[in-house]
Amino acid sequence: MYDVIIIGSGAGGATIAYRLADSGKKILVIERGDYVPVEKENWDSVEVFQKNRYTTTDLWLDKHDKPFRPGMHYNVGGNTKFYGAALFRLREEDFKEIQHYGGVSPAWPIQYEDLKGYYLEAEKLFHVHGKRGSDPTEPYDSEPYPNPPIPHEPRIQEVVDELNNYGWHPFELPIGVNFKPHETANAPYTLDRFDGFPDAAERKGDAHLCSLSKALEYPNVELMVNTKVLRLNTNEDGTKITEIVVEQNGETKTLTSDLIILSAGAINSAALLLESKNEKFPNGLANSSDQVGRNYMFHQNTALVALYAEPNYTKFGKTFGVNDFYHANKDYEFPLGHIQMLGKSDEHQIKADSPVAAPGFTFELMAEHAVDFWLTSEDLPDPENRVTVENGQIKISYSSNNQKGHELLKAELIKALKASGKFESFLFKGIYFSKGMDIASPAHQNGTTKMGLEPKTSVVDTNCKAHDLDNLYIVDGGFFVSSGAVNPALTIIAMALRVGDHLKSSVLKS
Ligand SMILES: Cc1cc2nc3c(=O)[nH]c(=O)nc-3n(C[C@H](O)[C@H](O)[C@H](O)COP(=O)(O)OP(=O)(O)OC[C@H]3O[C@@H](n4cnc5c(N)ncnc54)[C@H](O)[C@@H]3O)c2cc1C
Repeated sequence: MYDVIIIGSGAGGATIAYRLADSGKKILVIERGDYVPVEKENWDSVEVFQKNRYTTTDLWLDKHDKPFRPGMHYNVGGNTKFYGAALFRLREEDFKEIQHYGGVSPAWPIQYEDLKGYYLEAEKLFHVHGKRGSDPTEPYDSEPYPNPPIPHEPRIQEVVDELNNYGWHPFELPIGVNFKPHETANAPYTLDRFDGFPDAAERKGDAHLCSLSKALEYPNVELMVNTKVLRLNTNEDGTKITEIVVEQNGETKTLTSDLIILSAGAINSAALLLESKNEKFPNGLANSSDQVGRNYMFHQNTALVALYAEPNYTKFGKTFGVNDFYHANKDYEFPLGHIQMLGKSDEHQIKADSPVAAPGFTFELMAEHAVDFWLTSEDLPDPENRVTVENGQIKISYSSNNQKGHELLKAELIKALKASGKFESFLFKGIYFSKGMDIASPAHQNGTTKMGLEPKTSVVDTNCKAHDLDNLYIVDGGFFVSSGAVNPALTIIAMALRVGDHLKSSVLKS
């Protein structure tokens, strides 16, 4: 019998474990995967991106029931072991209603102020480097980033200068990296293979290193790996979860806990609730609103490789972003989105994306000249975009929306790059995330258990407690009401700290 069971050890689960660790309560973190192995393949782009060495072999279904293999990482630290560690706060405006080309992005029941202090703490916990105030859309904070920005390498500085000359306002990208060597580091240090790769050198600010390992220093916190939660059972009244059924080494076991925190990621948390239907909840647990699994969002994402006139020998290019089109402006009535740099492509990635080399280039030469950009725009919550489970298999039914802003954003970037006279060809890159909207790349998944004041129209309340159950909290990307256009992890981390405080001050007090 545990006081608290946390399902999932990613951004949400690991961070709430960290926050609750000093409560003295008996806490168990259940993780379906294992530790990511430290091996030379960690840095091998063929192994990581083409052979998908570290992603699940599970198959999901799309809306036409066509199976696909999702880019999901089931391991200690969750998807943060592989993320790019671009750690952004949502903008103040993201919490309010915003009109977009494709419809309305709804207001949240909380405001930016409710998370502000937790964002700062999350930045400290995850070693964020950045320059406060350089991003014109960033919410104000009197405290600087905990660490100075990562300097641009020379070629990237040139691109920044060119965009500045063009009239844009590139800013220092907030990135979570712990540069201090520490005892547990067990591989030579490099930031070269970072974005999308696991970091055996343990400098990436991920949830395993920044949160979970600190929680596990407490004797009252335990981690169970290779243990998949299969279903959650409730009491007869349907007021509380009483049993957590898990599969471990081929065996089924039942665990019990007073409090359950579900942090399996927006897709898997929704799937687990739907799979746990019972007489009291025939449509799935915590789903009297029929909203579990609905409003699935994962951003509109595009990876763009632009070929520079001169070679780009940058090792770590992920040092600037552009938010000039994040809000409506004098040229555009509605928001377009956000641009940031992406990890540098190599020839294997380029070859896999481009059937023929660009005119005058070999694949090797293309890789040498590649400058990589990542564009994100908001997708809007639509109840018909949803996660369901069919005969035990996850199904993602998704139709894209709000594309116009994203298309305009791509066109703006290409126009700006061409204006510098330095960029020639442009290639949309698919190997890392996808060429465009591809449900097989659910990296920024959110919205499936949305937060709201009304139990009839939302799944969790403003403290992430399930409206329908007394002892269930859902703390992962699921609570998002709208997706914003910046990367989601810092918001999940900040929310985990906030919910942890709420639990300590009220629920776990005795
Ligand atoms: C390649 C890549 C790059 C990214 N780059 C960025 C970035 O630069 N910035 C950013 O903010 N975000 C980025 N993201 C997204 C970021 O990683 C996620 O937003 C974040 O990890 C989500 O946190 P979470 O707690 O919701 O879920 P996760 O981190 O996915 O954690 C969920 C955990 O639950 C476990 N689990 C699932 N089901 C079960 C079950 N039934 N039983 C037990 N355990 C279970 C999983 O194994 C996993 O460990 C990136 C993601 C990817 C894949």
